[in-house]
Amino acid sequence: MDTTVQTTIGTQRALVTELPGPKSQELHARRRKVVSAGLTNGFPVYIDRAAGAILVDVDGNHLLDLGSGIAVTSIGHAVPALIDAVSEQVAAFTHTCFMVTPYEAYIQVCEELAALTPGDHEKTSALFNSGAEAIENAVKIARLATGRPAIIVVDHAYHGRTNLTMALTAKNMPYKDHFGPFAPEIYRVPTSYPYRDGLSGPEAAARAIAEIESSVGAHNVAAIVIEPIQGEGGFIVPAEGFLPALSAWTTANGALFIADEIQSGFCRTGAWFAVDHEGVIPDIVTTAKGLAGGMPLAGVTGRAEIMNQVHEGGLGGTYGGNPVAAVAALATIATMRDLDLAARARHIGDVAFAALRELQKDTTIIGEVRGRGAMIAMELVEPGTTTPNAAAAKAIVNFCNQHGVIAISCGTYGNVIRLLPPLVITDEQLADGLEVLAAAVRSIG
Ligand SMILES: *Cc1c(COP(=O)(O)O)cnc(C)c1O
Repeated sequence: MDTTVQTTIGTQRALVTELPGPKSQELHARRRKVVSAGLTNGFPVYIDRAAGAILVDVDGNHLLDLGSGIAVTSIGHAVPALIDAVSEQVAAFTHTCFMVTPYEAYIQVCEELAALTPGDHEKTSALFNSGAEAIENAVKIARLATGRPAIIVVDHAYHGRTNLTMALTAKNMPYKDHFGPFAPEIYRVPTSYPYRDGLSGPEAAARAIAEIESSVGAHNVAAIVIEPIQGEGGFIVPAEGFLPALSAWTTANGALFIADEIQSGFCRTGAWFAVDHEGVIPDIVTTAKGLAGGMPLAGVTGRAEIMNQVHEGGLGGTYGGNPVAAVAALATIATMRDLDLAARARHIGDVAFAALRELQKDTTIIGEVRGRGAMIAMELVEPGTTTPNAAAAKAIVNFCNQHGVIAISCGTYGNVIRLLPPLVITDEQLADGLEVLAAAVRSIG
């Protein structure tokens, strides 16, 4: 087994062609003939291999990965422990279907999820393939357990692209336009967006709760589904006290608090879960992205007395908790623990926030620098205003890409640059990436 990739790839960003290079362009032309135009590519450089925080494309360019495939490869690329675990499992068996003939790795992942998610109550889990599937199942369970129909979501929310999760997701373009009709009994209320609403956490929660009580009725609410830090919606960190107030309201009103930790979980924010920063203990937690180092795996973890109300056979799926993905999750979690990647995420945040706040002083287009740990963002605005500046975000991403740094944008208004570096990124790589980003911002204002 070749685990020497890491050393042969090296740790430096280095370009040998213009980007995208000729081989990438060739692949892109082929792609246009056979891949649906409904899928976009942020940047069409085709990847050949990767190690740590470096992606190597088919033309031999070494790119610095500040996106981790959207917060997925948090332990970095080509981690020997993950390669070994996955390789051994592929050789042992790749699939049986847990519902037909089970295997131990599924149980081990559920044991880890029970231990790591907030709260020391008894918990059980069910495993799935994608974040959207986890959210769908969390909603099924919440409705069954409460006997109530209504699901509350907030502005700027992103929970996926299946029919139910499209309904939970806020943004129309590109996620929902012409894809309806959507699932019923979903109600959207205002969130906490300190940069734009100026409200304290308790004030924003009172506003949301008043809306729920007047337009839905507390007794109809099965659950509030919420990202503790919003991902696609713009890396919005709610004001302190917002999440605890919503959580307390659900408890007082017989509803469930479902934390969608799919993007914010697994050390990304400097703790195992983003709700940990405010001591919130959700009834159900959904996980995916960072959980399995790039293998498709998602979890729904909740209070045993809620999860176990589901009738036998009520949950499942052919591939959910696939053994290869399950051992990848175990290797990922072990790596996070061994390397204390939560601490590493806090360090990345300290370095990046300091650099971006310095940069903010020199320019008029950075409205806010925000985030937590290694979930880092800057919201771009028209100079001297709070008007969203999507063109600036696009230009900055483009500049970074052209210089071999993979950065991505997000936000309801498309005006937020987000950084989600692998948590194993070195200080030198991080400094390099931040320098390119600063040059990008300076190049436009
Ligand atoms: C990505 C994401 C999802 C959907 O996950 P998929 O695996 O893409 O289906 C749901 N919620 C949040 C917060 C996400 O970031």
